[in-house]
Amino acid sequence: METKKELRKQILQKRDALSLQERRKKSQTIIQTILSTQVFQNSDTFLLFASYKSEVDVKKLIESVLQMGKALYLPKVVGEDMEFYKISSVVELSDGYCGIKEPKANVCQKFIVKKEETIFILLPGAVFDKQGRRIGYGKGFYDRFLQKLEKEVPKSNLCKMAVAFSCQIVDNGRIKWEEHDISPDYIVTEEEIFHCTM
Ligand code: ADP
Ligand code: MG
Repeated sequence: METKKELRKQILQKRDALSLQERRKKSQTIIQTILSTQVFQNSDTFLLFASYKSEVDVKKLIESVLQMGKALYLPKVVGEDMEFYKISSVVELSDGYCGIKEPKANVCQKFIVKKEETIFILLPGAVFDKQGRRIGYGKGFYDRFLQKLEKEVPKSNLCKMAVAFSCQIVDNGRIKWEEHDISPDYIVTEEEIFHCTM
């Protein structure tokens, strides 16, 4: 089996090869699909991310959540960990880790789990399979954050939804699964929505 690193590199090259126009169109389709799901509509609190490089562009999803007046948090890398901070406007973001837009920790409120709230978390990633195995960017930020989150939030109050272009979905069996890896409940691509079984 190829290593995680080799597979990540190969798939990110494919993603990078999509034209800006293709990425825009596919991203728009993905966002429309997410907005139409019950789990999205039924959630109170949203943990999204600011897209980086050739990732699915979720800026319009961020704007939609803000327009809906729901609680929105974006990640910020703090030392070895990732923390989420609340924003009420995109002007509260500035260039952070690897040039990714992050909330300003000095002005934004840190995310802490409130009792009974339903949380929707959007996961980025490099490679996925249909069952929900995920390869991130190699630092395990989401694996570690989700491990903590899952201890604090009942399963029924948490929805983990990943976004990817179809070219990032590989056949079952190609992704080496490690004990610490955490799977999404759903993966949304421009073609399909996968309900994961991992
Ligand atoms: P990614 O998911 O970003 O592709 P990996 O799954 O390879 O990256 O994880 C990167 C590093 O983070 C690994 O060395 C792994 O041991 C560490 N890691 C991931 N999750 C945890 C966790 N829950 N507790 C401790 N270390 C973790
Ligand atoms: Mg991992």
